[in-house]
Amino acid sequence: MQTNLKICRGCGQVKDITSDFAVDRSKKGGITSRCKECCRQSSSRRRSLRSPEQKEADAFRRSEKRRAANPEARQKINCQARLRYGANRADQLRRNALYRKRALEKIKLREKVRRTACADLLREQYASYYLRNREQILARNKIWRLDNRERRACSLARRRAAVLQRIPRWLSAEAISQIKEVYARARQMSEASFLSYHVDHIYPLQGRYVSGLHVPENLQILLASENLKKSNKWTPQ
Ligand SMILES: [Zn+2]
Repeated sequence: MQTNLKICRGCGQVKDITSDFAVDRSKKGGITSRCKECCRQSSSRRRSLRSPEQKEADAFRRSEKRRAANPEARQKINCQARLRYGANRADQLRRNALYRKRALEKIKLREKVRRTACADLLREQYASYYLRNREQILARNKIWRLDNRERRACSLARRRAAVLQRIPRWLSAEAISQIKEVYARARQMSEASFLSYHVDHIYPLQGRYVSGLHVPENLQILLASENLKKSNKWTPQ
């Protein structure tokens, strides 16, 4: 009888080996050193101590796992949602806008978590989405460019003028080819990773405190998302 009992390392109580301890083959006796109740408590304590970001990241990972485990059910749900959406698009868009307004903080947190904690997963998802829908995406981008031709031309021209103004007269031919290399590298990185890499001016060309030059030393390659966050900001440290 006595061999079926064990002292829990957590609460110190004498408990039944077969019913009160979980199996753990990595442990010497083949069971955990603490009883099931103690394990449950410490895991719930750990869970409650997670930051909101961590909670959101865990929830996201869990839901992705569920999706991956049952692709057929997922497809069915997607199909139903698409039908619903198509039948009542205006209504749905209004409802989405209302929800976004109501739960803005929650949504912002979720988006932030997805961008950071689950960056790899999102990259994979986007890469596979891109491969599956390449033609569509390219066509859509082209339509956008045609629809916004003037807007785009205007911003490109302004950009080009800003760059031209910040090219120093003393820039050597070697430096110019180095600049070209940086842009080529950013393009290669974008194509290889399905992410958008930008060439960024460390000191902005039209900064508030300082204005940088269009020279190799002032260039760095950044993810577009990081670059857009940085905008024209450079603040003295
Ligand atoms: Zn215990």
